[in-house]
Amino acid sequence: MLYDLTPHLGAQQEPLKKALDELVRIPSVCDEGGGGYPFGAAIDQALRTALEIAGDLGFRTEYGDGGYYGFTEVGEGKEMLGILGHLDVVPPGNLTDWKHDPFDPIEKDGMLYGRGTQDDKGPLLASLFAVKALMDAGVKFNKRVRFIFGTDEETLWRCIKRYIEKEEIPGFGFSPDSRFPVTYAEKGLLQLRLEGSNESGIQLSGGSAFNAVPDSIYYDGERQDDLADKLDRLGFEYERYEEGIEVRGRAAHAMIPEEGINAIARLCIALNAIGIQSKAINFVVQEIGQDPNATRIFGECADEPSGKLKFNVGKIELGQAEQLFIDTRLPVTASKEEVVKALTITAAKYGLEYKEFDWLGSIYLPLDHFMVTTLMNVYRQHSGDTVTEPQSSGGATYARAIQNCVAFGALTFDEPLTEHQPNERAVLRNLYKAMEIYSHAVYELTR
Ligand SMILES: [Zn+2]
Repeated sequence: MLYDLTPHLGAQQEPLKKALDELVRIPSVCDEGGGGYPFGAAIDQALRTALEIAGDLGFRTEYGDGGYYGFTEVGEGKEMLGILGHLDVVPPGNLTDWKHDPFDPIEKDGMLYGRGTQDDKGPLLASLFAVKALMDAGVKFNKRVRFIFGTDEETLWRCIKRYIEKEEIPGFGFSPDSRFPVTYAEKGLLQLRLEGSNESGIQLSGGSAFNAVPDSIYYDGERQDDLADKLDRLGFEYERYEEGIEVRGRAAHAMIPEEGINAIARLCIALNAIGIQSKAINFVVQEIGQDPNATRIFGECADEPSGKLKFNVGKIELGQAEQLFIDTRLPVTASKEEVVKALTITAAKYGLEYKEFDWLGSIYLPLDHFMVTTLMNVYRQHSGDTVTEPQSSGGATYARAIQNCVAFGALTFDEPLTEHQPNERAVLRNLYKAMEIYSHAVYELTR
């Protein structure tokens, strides 16, 4: 490149940190319809603040469709590079697990603590200030660079879906919402319920979300002595209380269920073994058990770029009806129709009906695609890491919202992943490195 970006990148470090501090202070957790805004007043404030920050940096800005999204742009030309990130955050969870207030960021040991520092306010701002450094260096963009600010990434993507309906769609892009180097394949993400009438008389409720392996479930029904005995024999961990039994598992994200222990599956296996049955219990025991790949239903469903199908029963509700809440991640070359068909037929054997909740199609760019090669080159030149290969992931980023898009950064592979966890924090040195990588990436992509 003809320009020396070093002084300009250096000059943006403090403003980047200050902007991140400002955004993290806004507790932008989804509060649907709150204050008359699509996803609540806090998310709206985060959106307006981000647009204001961009406006002050010299970008053109637009607040989109009553607060569903916003975007900000620089450069001229017909073609458009999209950079897609989000301003909403997941709830902080149990506050006693935090060493500091999640929404009052604190800098310690070279890290900034606070909800959203890794996911996704930090990476999004690093890419924004990266472009500011290019602007200050006098770089002329031959293509437009548009940042799209999503506001509903952690729930249902209604923001980006609305954007796609209403606005100009970038021809190519990246999403700074993952790890370096490049994520070129993301599995299909299918969330669904299996439902049927409850004729068993059993009342049971456990798990909290589609996409989390449940780490415990409480049972206060009949035959607890027998159940405890069976749990002992099976070697399943549990705790007895006066009124009931808590079966223990281990939490994990649904994209890597094999790293967790599904407490719902364990309870169902033990209940079934002492003769307590229902549609949902029998389905879990006979079709899934503790297999994170649900091989009985789908066979060996896997491919070379993205690995095996993953299957997680995240929640069970036995009340008026029986319901299972399931998250499954499909290999990039797998057919969704085939998976749905296999599941529908299998569930029907137990009197359960398939109800789709959400579907995000996979992405898969060939390794010689210009986005993969360009970003890999830039990453290798500026990170010093010449060995890490392009990645495939079970996670979902906005990369799959548009064509020719990949997830790119901002976490380095040696930085602990703290997103969605207590004490979320970003290593500032890495964030500044990410800004450098992003600036060169945007430069290359706008030639
Ligand atoms: Zn994110």
